[in-house]
Amino acid sequence: MHPRLAADRDGLPLLLETVRQHAVGLLKEIPEREVVPSAPLPDPDPLPAQGAGLQAAVDDFAARWEPALSASAGPRYLGFVTGGATPAALAGDWLTATWDQNAMSSLDGAGQHLERETIGWLRTLFGLSEEHHGTFVSGATMSNTVGLAVAREWLGEQRGISPAEHGAGALGSVRVLSGAAHSSVPKGLSMLGLGRKSLVRVPTLPGREAVDLAELEHALAEGESDGRCVVVANAGTVNTVDFDDLRAIAALRERYSFWLHVDAAFGAFAALSPEHAHLVDGLDLADSICVDLHKWLNVPYDSAVQFTRRPDLQTRVFQNAAAYLGPLGDTPDMAHLTPENSRRLRALAAWFTLRAYGRDGHREITERCVDCARALGDAVENAPGLRLLAPVRLNVVCFTLAENPTTERLAALAGQLAAEAFLTPTVLDGVPALRAAFSNWRTTEADARRVAAALHTALRALPTL
Ligand SMILES: *Cc1c(COP(=O)(O)O)cnc(C)c1O
Repeated sequence: MHPRLAADRDGLPLLLETVRQHAVGLLKEIPEREVVPSAPLPDPDPLPAQGAGLQAAVDDFAARWEPALSASAGPRYLGFVTGGATPAALAGDWLTATWDQNAMSSLDGAGQHLERETIGWLRTLFGLSEEHHGTFVSGATMSNTVGLAVAREWLGEQRGISPAEHGAGALGSVRVLSGAAHSSVPKGLSMLGLGRKSLVRVPTLPGREAVDLAELEHALAEGESDGRCVVVANAGTVNTVDFDDLRAIAALRERYSFWLHVDAAFGAFAALSPEHAHLVDGLDLADSICVDLHKWLNVPYDSAVQFTRRPDLQTRVFQNAAAYLGPLGDTPDMAHLTPENSRRLRALAAWFTLRAYGRDGHREITERCVDCARALGDAVENAPGLRLLAPVRLNVVCFTLAENPTTERLAALAGQLAAEAFLTPTVLDGVPALRAAFSNWRTTEADARRVAAALHTALRALPTL
């Protein structure tokens, strides 16, 4: 064995203790760390020929790279939709690497069964019935893509062909109807050979991001003759967290034939709050559902779940026939259900946080995030220089400058905030804007007030033109 490796093996207990202390130090300071780092990026080093052991790697990482990493695990990183990692999720992630299980096959221990238990918990959390089968994937983009892959196979089944066997070309052109689809949907359509152009943007309700049902019905009626339709319903759009009427869309299947996929990447968490659960009413009626876990469940990257009522079609797409893997059977191994073959025991972090805090703990996180968004939303509404662009429906505040809201001025405003908070730019109905998304378990209303105060200061410092 290489002497450095042998030394690290022998010194592992102490080395891990050092790493633990390092992590504890980071987590202690993370609420006060610069949210967007001002430190310059280090230049890349050449590959170390010798290596200097784990302790030296920790020291080098701390010196060169850590100063330039963002405080995305902290309470005021409000860009995108970025959860942190609850204490239990972090521990689950450490143990995932410690165990280093390959959760793809029943030949390899109980990992898959732990995943299935976790899927059952998630189903209950989001109010889904046992008709929905689930698997873990790396994120909502993959979850949407898997849902659309199953949809593609279902469209084939309607015409007696299998796109998985004969290629997407055998299907002919497909229409994917959606009001305000997330950018990951055209990306998935590109990967699946259905093409980005298959996405048809259906008009939304006036001043809203929720699909106009009459327009959707019109688009479905137009496609009736060839019938190759998928509807992607949105349960929580990223800009204004608007929700399509899922129950009403599902009811359209009585008159039109289509696959209903719901992108509920973070909106599914509305189900945890009695005040907001109506927003996802009808979610269980979907044929496939995407939910991100590295956002509002607060597990580390990379984790999402996809649910479907047709695991048989999913197996047709993803089956990985090899002599060394188990047969398909009634309960196919994960290797036959997901884009990956070998993969980590991704469910463990979710299992830990659900085991540790349960439904009520995660409900508290969800409701607190909503309270924070409301607090910041109120502050924006009362600030003369700012204008709220949409009501705060859940956990996102979308706003712009009351006067002259150019991309440059908004970027300058966001730049002024950078040490205190990170917000992402967007454009809503042609208006450049900023959005603050609350989804981190650490965030409190005191943080929301700090962001509001920083916004006031930044506004005063903003050049008028
Ligand atoms: C974040 C998000 C996605 C993509 O998620 P990734 O985890 O980044 O792949 C898809 N849809 C919605 C609504 C999202 O918020």
